[in-house]
Amino acid sequence: MVDSRVLILGGTAEARALAKALVAEGIPVISSLAGRVQNPRLPVGEVRIGGFGGVEGLRKWLGDNQIRAVVDATHPFAVRITANAAQACAQADVPLIRLARSAWEAGPADRWISVPDIDAAAEAVAERGGRVFLTTGRQDVDAFAGVENAWFLIRVVDPPEGPLPAHHEILRSRGPYGLDDERALLAEHRITLLVTKNSGGELTRAKLTAAAEVGIDVIVVERPSEPAGVECVTSAAAAVDCVRSIVRAADSADR
Ligand code: NAP
Repeated sequence: MVDSRVLILGGTAEARALAKALVAEGIPVISSLAGRVQNPRLPVGEVRIGGFGGVEGLRKWLGDNQIRAVVDATHPFAVRITANAAQACAQADVPLIRLARSAWEAGPADRWISVPDIDAAAEAVAERGGRVFLTTGRQDVDAFAGVENAWFLIRVVDPPEGPLPAHHEILRSRGPYGLDDERALLAEHRITLLVTKNSGGELTRAKLTAAAEVGIDVIVVERPSEPAGVECVTSAAAAVDCVRSIVRAADSADR
């Protein structure tokens, strides 16, 4: 097994869990991070940081680094790297598994307004106004820059670089977030509207529970579609099973 290298496209908790599990099994991994966050949480095992240079760059990198399998464990909204991975792996004939956590689903107490993309979320906010808790991430803040009839609490890991809404406060923090803290935040800032991507997972779910408790609306940006024809799993454990069988088959073919 030791000759097989697995590339994990990361930047998520699932990617870190997968790296840990594969390293524990003696399967060498290289985790790749985009380099967006100043002090990223690093997975165990080897790590590389920075883009590959599009589909062509990734295809070449796979060949140069003797990659036997790729797990795309990037965030469900990281559409470009996911599309690039699908194309590059197909061209290089390298097996690809997509690891994406399940989406959140609304319960009876939730007051969700589903929108297809971030621009639609900004329109939905402009229709309502109020005091908005914006949790869609640093890269999407500029979509809300033209919304003047709302005040925004903007929670980000690193400060946003583009234009900002006229009325806002930046809150720098990194999850996971607990329910008591989310309740306190909504109360302290008298939040009337929450905006989130449908990222899924437990680490940032508490804000939805807190919003449901106080009965505020939640603008939910629904997920982009995944590339067709790629095997998709929702947990690191399932991805480990897939990788194990790919690596075993590749190693026995080499003997
Ligand atoms: P994106 O728009 O899909 O990708 C833009 C470019 O960034 C890609 O074309 C690629 O550059 C590079 N890139 C992205 N992920 C990479 C990775 N894991 N390793 C190496 N290069 C990568 O990505 P994004 O939405 O900006 O997300 C960037 C990273 O943040 C991802 O790793 C993702 O898992 C994480 N993240 C994203 C979100 C989100 O809401 N989008 C939330 C939490 C975490 P080249 O074309 O040069 O290869």
